[in-house]
Amino acid sequence: MTIVTLGGRGEGTVVPQLGKCGSWFTRWALWTRPRPWVVFTLIVETCVAALIVAAFVMVPVHPGDLVVFGVLLALGIAQAEMSRRGERLRRQLSETPHINMTAVWLVPGAILLPPGLAAVLGVLLYLHLGLRSWYRLHSVAPCRMMASAAVVVLSCFASSGALMVFGVHANALIGEGATPERTALFVASVLAFELVNATVTAVALYLAAIETPTARMLFGSWEDNALEFATVCLGGLTAAVLIYQPILVIFTFIPLLVLHRSVLVKQLEVAATTDHKTGLLNAVAWHNLARVELSRARRSKTSFGILMVDLDHFKRVNDTYGHLAGDAVLKAVADAVKGEVRDYDSAGRFGGEEFAVLLPGISEADVVATAERIRHRVTTLAVDVPLEDGRGVVDSLSASIGVAVYPYGGPDVEGLLLTADSALYKAKDTGRNKVVSVAA
Ligand code: GH3
Ligand code: MG
Ligand code: MG
Repeated sequence: MTIVTLGGRGEGTVVPQLGKCGSWFTRWALWTRPRPWVVFTLIVETCVAALIVAAFVMVPVHPGDLVVFGVLLALGIAQAEMSRRGERLRRQLSETPHINMTAVWLVPGAILLPPGLAAVLGVLLYLHLGLRSWYRLHSVAPCRMMASAAVVVLSCFASSGALMVFGVHANALIGEGATPERTALFVASVLAFELVNATVTAVALYLAAIETPTARMLFGSWEDNALEFATVCLGGLTAAVLIYQPILVIFTFIPLLVLHRSVLVKQLEVAATTDHKTGLLNAVAWHNLARVELSRARRSKTSFGILMVDLDHFKRVNDTYGHLAGDAVLKAVADAVKGEVRDYDSAGRFGGEEFAVLLPGISEADVVATAERIRHRVTTLAVDVPLEDGRGVVDSLSASIGVAVYPYGGPDVEGLLLTADSALYKAKDTGRNKVVSVAA
C-alpha cells in the first residue's frame, strides 16, 4: 500500500504569495510548500534519479523481464482505470496521508524485476494516476505527486535491495528451491517496501508540519496502517502467483476492487460526519452521539455534561485579519477544545464560531472545571495565520462558555442545549471570557 501525499497537513505556506505577475516557474505550488519539505523532497528525488541510472547500469534487463513488466503495468493501469472515479472522489475527500492501491503491483515489480525496471514501473503507474485520477485536483499538486512517486520508487529499491544483499533470485524464493530462510527473505523484502515507505513519508510530513505533529499525523491511524498492510500483503501474494501460475494474477483484481470500494465508503462516512474546516464532528453527527449518550445516561441513571463554546468578538478577527485568518483561528480553537477533553468526549462545530462539547459520565463540578480549562486555553492561543502579505499571529482570543448537566439542565438533548445556550448568553451579557452554569 502506498501513501501518496507527502506533507498533507494543510498547505503550510512559507513564501509570501508571489502574485499573478510571477513567471510560470515562480508560480509552481512547490515554492509555497514549507522549505524543509522542499529541500528533503528534492534530495529524495535526486537520490532516486541517481539510483535509477545506477540500477540500469549495474543490473541488466532481460527480454523475459520486459514481459513481467508489461503484465504488471497493464494490470496496474487497468485497475486504476476501473477504480478511477472512486479514486478521484477519495482524493477529494481526504487531504492527509492518502493511501492507494499501487503497492499491489509495485511490490511484485520490486521482487521480480531488475530494480531499474521496477522503478520505471512505479514512475509510469504514478504518471498514469496523476494524469487520469488526480488531474487538476487542488490537493494533488504536481510537486506532491512527484514526491510521492519518488517515495514509492525508493521503497521499491529497498525491497529489491533486500533480495540483492543475499544474492537470491525471486524465482528461488518460493516453490521447490525455497527454504525457510528464503521464505523469510521474501517476507523481509515485502516488509522493506512498507518500512521505507512509512518512514520517508513520516519524515516528509514532519518537515511539512506547521506545529508539532502527533504520531497519528505522521504514521496514520491503526485503520490506515491495517489497510496499507493489506495492500502490501496482496502485493506479496501477487508476486508469488506470478512466479507459480501467472494467469491466476487475474484473481487479484476482485479483492482489490472491493478493498478500494470499502475504503471509499469509510471515507464517505467520515466526510458525512466531519466538519471540514475544523476536523470536529458536524452538528448532525454531534446530535446523534448526544442522543446515544442521553439514552445511556437514562438507563444507567448517570449524568453527562454539555458545553456551548462561543468565541468572543470573533467578527473582529475576520474584519482585521481576513476570513482565511479567521478559519485558521477556528481550527486552532477546535484543536484546543479537543486537547482539553478526554478521548471519549465529543466536540462538534455547530457552524460559525460556536462549538458544542459532550462530556459523558461526569459530575457538574468536573464539567465546569473542564469548561474553565478550555476557556483558559483559548486565552493562551497564539495562532499563526495567513495574511495578504505573508503570515501573522492572532492572540488575545477569548471564549464564553455555557454549561448544562443532565438531568438537572434538561430532560433531553434539546432541553440541555437550550440551557447551555442561555448560560452562554448570560456569560456574554456579563462581560464575556467566562463560564456560566445555570440550573434549568
Ligand atoms: P460575540 O462575542 O457576541 O460572540 O461576537 P462575535 O463577533 O463572535 O459574534 P457574531 O455572531 O456577531 O459573529 C460571528 C462571526 O463569525 C460572523 C461571521 O463572519 C464569522 N464566521 C462564521 N462562520 C465562519 C467561518 O466559517 N469562517 C470564518 N472565518 N468566519 C466565520
Ligand atoms: Mg462569538
Ligand atoms: Mg456566535
